[in-house]
Amino acid sequence: MRATAVFAVVLFVCASFLALGQRQCISVTCAIYVPGGPDPTRLLSVTYAEHFVRLLRTSANGCKRHEEKENIGGRSDPLLSHLSRRRIAEDHGDAKTESVHRRRFSDNRKMGQTCNVALLGFGTVGSSVAKILCERPNTHLRLTHILNRGVARKKVDWLPSTVQWTENIDDVISSDAGVVVELMGGLQPSEDWIRQALAAGKSVVTANKQLIARCGPELIALARQANQQIQFGASVAGGVPVISGLHEGLAGDELFQIRGILNGTCNYILSQIEANGIPFGTALREAQKLGFAEADPTEDIDGLDARAKLAILARVGLHCNIKVESIVARSISAIDSVDFEYAKQLGCTIRQISWAELKGGQLFAAVQPALVQLSSPLARVEGSQNLVVATGKYGGETVFGGHGAGGHPTAVAVVSDILAIASSKQARASITTTAADPTTISASVAEITPAVTANFTAKHYLRFLVKDRPGIIAALATILSECNINIDAVLQKPGCPKSHLPFLITLEECKVALVENALQKINRLDFLVQPCLHLPIL
Ligand code: NAP
Repeated sequence: MRATAVFAVVLFVCASFLALGQRQCISVTCAIYVPGGPDPTRLLSVTYAEHFVRLLRTSANGCKRHEEKENIGGRSDPLLSHLSRRRIAEDHGDAKTESVHRRRFSDNRKMGQTCNVALLGFGTVGSSVAKILCERPNTHLRLTHILNRGVARKKVDWLPSTVQWTENIDDVISSDAGVVVELMGGLQPSEDWIRQALAAGKSVVTANKQLIARCGPELIALARQANQQIQFGASVAGGVPVISGLHEGLAGDELFQIRGILNGTCNYILSQIEANGIPFGTALREAQKLGFAEADPTEDIDGLDARAKLAILARVGLHCNIKVESIVARSISAIDSVDFEYAKQLGCTIRQISWAELKGGQLFAAVQPALVQLSSPLARVEGSQNLVVATGKYGGETVFGGHGAGGHPTAVAVVSDILAIASSKQARASITTTAADPTTISASVAEITPAVTANFTAKHYLRFLVKDRPGIIAALATILSECNINIDAVLQKPGCPKSHLPFLITLEECKVALVENALQKINRLDFLVQPCLHLPIL
């Protein structure tokens, strides 16, 4: 493998020099690195090759010699693509002759300058970021300020005494911090303080999904005006580098669909109901006890948290400028253990699914509990994990998965963003290039403003809880037929009490609006113990 990789590198370098200045170099690279590889791999390689061409041009000008001992073009993992890309970007600005494999993109030692960092918020994520900044010796990032309300109770003894603790934002704004990291959450004062930091010539990193979902484009524009950057990689899926994956790793594709499990709390609760056959309320209380759910879980359970994340992904991946509120969000609170039994009979399970799909100039988007086939990667997400499946016209499906929350995983994403900014600042200081400027790329992301609809075409799952009596199926079938809806199957679990009898009707593919119209009539029928539970089968 190693010999093949070295041979490939030698071939690549020769071919690249021969073709220097010509686009043919790109196809030569693809042929060397990914013979017969899957399309996504090839796409990523094209982008690497573009970086290499740039790199080699720089090399030729500055009489440098670069070698890449790691066969990065053969990797299809977006995280690796991200890391490799950063490494290349760093190389671009480095005047020394040195093997790339001996360095890390995050290692700014040779760049000489320290980047001062100020933290706003010293909670779960903030304290983990501080820990990483202090424990990792070679990042050349220096934590200089920590702001928190009631700061005296937050102070810890494991941070250097040089760190200045404060409750006053002016101390941060007037400081020499180059990057301000907002980890307080909430809309205010976070938004104002981010604006102040950008206006004062500081770049910003935030994990604040609600703020970015609502004001992302404005803040990005402000950052551009100030010649600064704003990065928000941790705002979706915590430690999973999905934003950079969509933004950079899949930039060569034309994405049209993003599906995902974006809320660990909901996934944990649904997994617990499924595994233990417990009611929703019990699963929620257990999640709260174990710290997987907030005391007020509304944002998570009702899909509002995932909706903000989906709006960000739609902007970054599908280039859709949409309002968060335009995305329908439905609660998971009506899901019962019996639904998992019925779902299993249909070869499915139930998950809170965030879905955004561009079709015919419209964005079909919703966050809702849905049945997913057991064979789908979404069905295999357990506990508090997150997963995103991005689908592109050329590259097909790419899956991102991992820890969607938690102090340390989220802090990794935050620190990666800080390092990206630090590297980019250094690169901008040392060379004149528009490459790898995330602010520039982010700002060009939102391109269309489509109409947003939740009127998907899908098969449907209708679960009823009724007081049993003759004629129930006939009454339901009549309404469905009047609404032009075809029944696919009727299932009834044996042995349930007649006063609370759960049974299921599945419907053939039709528009959601058609089913909702029928349900308005159905939910008025007097034999129903509770409104019908309606889930799409995706
Ligand atoms: P957290 O534990 O509640 O920490 C927030 C910190 O900010 C607390 O120390 C809080 O002080 C402080 N704070 C809040 N408002 C403030 C204000 N107005 N002035 C000064 N200090 C203030 O929250 P977190 O879990 O670390 O989350 C931080 C951000 O990361 C949020 O935007 C969140 O959505 C995002 N995020 C979190 C995770 C995760 O797993 N936790 C994952 C992805 C993204 P007090 O101690 O007084 O409350």
